[in-house]
Amino acid sequence: MVRELKEVQGIIIKRQKYKEADLLAKVFTKNDGIITMIVRGALRPKSRLGAATMIFSYGTYVINTSGHGLSMLRTYKEVKQFDNLYQDMTKNAYASFIFDLIDHAFIEYQSLGKYFDLGEFAVRKINEGVDPEMITQIVQMQLLEAYGVKPELEKCVICGKTKGIFDYSIKLGGIICSDHFYQENNRLHLKPKETAILRTIGLLPIERLGNISISEDSKKATRDAIDRIYRQTVDLNLKTKKFLDELKLF
Ligand SMILES: [Zn+2]
Repeated sequence: MVRELKEVQGIIIKRQKYKEADLLAKVFTKNDGIITMIVRGALRPKSRLGAATMIFSYGTYVINTSGHGLSMLRTYKEVKQFDNLYQDMTKNAYASFIFDLIDHAFIEYQSLGKYFDLGEFAVRKINEGVDPEMITQIVQMQLLEAYGVKPELEKCVICGKTKGIFDYSIKLGGIICSDHFYQENNRLHLKPKETAILRTIGLLPIERLGNISISEDSKKATRDAIDRIYRQTVDLNLKTKKFLDELKLF
């Protein structure tokens, strides 16, 4: 098994205690996927490697790796941090959930491609103060494709119509136009504007998604719709989601 030294650029998305004073830190990279690194001595006071692998740090990490299993962090270059994420528990909870969700859609070292950009976009926006709930909904809608359950959002799944009044059917895997509302009782019964929000956030390239301002009622309705879509098509049971839902009760 060939081990090599390699530089990877990425964001630290998770860390947990390993052996003695060592940590396991997960780094989220575009081309090299999600890598778990052993960080020796990270829990000792004044550990430089420990400081460089705080949650939501990002930069260049030099690792010793064989391309699978655990890699070893050797050193780092130019590491920065998304400060607001680190300090704000709500933002932190949203970002942790987003990365957990992306993490579960991929196997280790599998290239993330555009989903890296999606995750990076999300944490940058949340760090800048954009509504984390809306950013999370965008990520969830766009990530369904990575889970192999890409919804049809462009046209009615039954007749192909692209304009009109639409609702969403989980069973049919996409939007249906009002011509067929009578034949699909299990549709989500969303208001037309709520379905329009799901279409917009699921279809638009992230760089074109500016500041979306949506009423609290609509946001709640799309949140419930997305939760149902995930429960019935992806069926994950993530602690980060549970924590986020609990946090919203306060
Ligand atoms: Zn139709």
